[in-house]
Amino acid sequence: MKRTLVTCTLALALAAPAAAQAPRAPVARAGDVATRGLAERDFPRARQLAPGVYAYEALRGADPGGKMTTVSLIVVTNDGVLVADGQGNVAQTKEMVDWIARTTPQPIRYVVVASDHGDHTAGNAAFPAGVTFLATPASVRAMAAAAGGAPARLDTVVGKRTLALGGTTIDVLDLGRAHTGGDLSVHLPRERVLFLSEAYLHWVFPAMRSAYPREWVATLKKAEAMDATWYVPGHGFVDDAATLKRDLPAYRDALERVIAEAARLHAAGVPCASRDACEAVAAGNWGDLKEWTLFAGQAPIAVRRVYDEIEGKLPPRAP
Ligand SMILES: [Zn+2]
Repeated sequence: MKRTLVTCTLALALAAPAAAQAPRAPVARAGDVATRGLAERDFPRARQLAPGVYAYEALRGADPGGKMTTVSLIVVTNDGVLVADGQGNVAQTKEMVDWIARTTPQPIRYVVVASDHGDHTAGNAAFPAGVTFLATPASVRAMAAAAGGAPARLDTVVGKRTLALGGTTIDVLDLGRAHTGGDLSVHLPRERVLFLSEAYLHWVFPAMRSAYPREWVATLKKAEAMDATWYVPGHGFVDDAATLKRDLPAYRDALERVIAEAARLHAAGVPCASRDACEAVAAGNWGDLKEWTLFAGQAPIAVRRVYDEIEGKLPPRAP
């Protein structure tokens, strides 16, 4: 009976207006290295987005189903360097710190914790002593509860923090809860660069372990309204500016499709007790989302998280 219900409402999962406007070759719609025809030796790599502004991509280790990149933003000014997000372990963050030292004599002064997840923070010990970390109160709490603890030199960001660093204006923004619940973005108004960290996973299935699904959609709408030139993701490839900008609404559309399909399954009473026992994944109509990087591992987690949001089980926003 449940299966019949599921099949009859297929249209809901197929409604994908933004994606439909931007058809592209299947090979481009992937966040993992092998599907893109790239090799591990191609990484780490850095792309200059504007003078002194770089997106640095290194491979995230140990992903079943293909390796993908973790992206850090590096802003070099005449008065020091700001980095948004580290890499996933000390060796890889050290490699990035060394890359920065080869690129500029300026010291790293700030590290923005745009995502507090371990694949962006577990290497933070490699940053030089004396850097100041910027994070939301929610991310400070998350880091304090994790193995490495919260960094010693820490400034909390509530709402917005503007840094004027060597003539470069850097806005550190809380655009709303998204992937972690402590999400920050980094906006360079003059260079028109917006680093969205894990709020934007470029052709990577919306991972929701600690997400706030509906708030995440609202956060992305705010980002789209900012009309930057560069929209930089936290995972997935840093393609050219036009591609990343075009793919952002397609990503939000994917997020909305996951939420809508999970909500439909919830209303139909299809169970999803846990990530290991989620009948709703097999029963769902996921369309092309099944081909997105990390679908198999992340779909049950996402469905369970949407169920939790519907059931009022997610924590309200704390100050
Ligand atoms: Zn991550």
